[in-house]
Amino acid sequence: MTPANYRFAPSPNGELHLGHAYSALFTQKEAQRDNGRFILRIEDIDTLRCRRHFAEQIFDDLAWLGLGWEEPVRFQSAHLADYALAQQHLIDMGLLYPCFCSRLRLRELPADRCDPDGAPLYPGTCRELASTARNRCIAQGMPFSQRIDMEKACRRLRSTISFHELGQGRSIEADPRRWGDVILIRKDIGTSYHIAVVVDDAIQSVTHVTRGMDLFEATHIHRLLQALLALPVPVYLHHRLIGDEQGRKLSKSAGDRSLRSLRQAGITAGEVRTALGF
Ligand code: GLU
Repeated sequence: MTPANYRFAPSPNGELHLGHAYSALFTQKEAQRDNGRFILRIEDIDTLRCRRHFAEQIFDDLAWLGLGWEEPVRFQSAHLADYALAQQHLIDMGLLYPCFCSRLRLRELPADRCDPDGAPLYPGTCRELASTARNRCIAQGMPFSQRIDMEKACRRLRSTISFHELGQGRSIEADPRRWGDVILIRKDIGTSYHIAVVVDDAIQSVTHVTRGMDLFEATHIHRLLQALLALPVPVYLHHRLIGDEQGRKLSKSAGDRSLRSLRQAGITAGEVRTALGF
């Protein structure tokens, strides 16, 4: 029987908070219950926001919590060639197109529908560009991202696609169309979370993806990419999110109390584990 592989994949763009601690402990518990491996992966493709010292802090916080993992840890920033290869497959299939829309332009575009995260759906403006106009923009050096032509991609599938959600104990039909033409190659970093996560889960033979409910909807895109790139499909287990006293989801950007600040205030790892139910 192939061993079960679980992963915890934080981004070093700030300090970990209780929500991350919950996710890491949850993953470890599931892996142990299943006699599986616990893999730590550092998702640092966003070089504009990620910092090496935050990665060091992640190692320190997780060790403090009592977690152990195998070395070497995969840093996504060291594997951009793997993501470029997957992107090239999608380009070769004719499924990506350049999008020259700036942030400002995107705000002005008509969008009568929203994606599952509540952001306006991209109306496909650059998909309709004639190739002469497209080539002119590229020749002029206009920066561009690359979006998936979602309709075309879905039409390419020969059958419906689904993923197994362990938390619900059932198979869920993937419906990536609700996301519209999402960006798969960002203009600033040359890749994207969606690409990197499916490629890495495959390369690391991840069998179980445990992560917060906030990424449940993204699974529909991941499942589509796995089908297009012929990657193995893990099972999914999206866990509850840890909120603050007001029930608001914790976030790094909102400056929620980090594990580091709790440690500095004298809180013990045991207290954190107990508070989180582990
Ligand atoms: N790197 C993502 C985060 O820190 C998690 C991605 C995932 O588990 O798929 O939110």
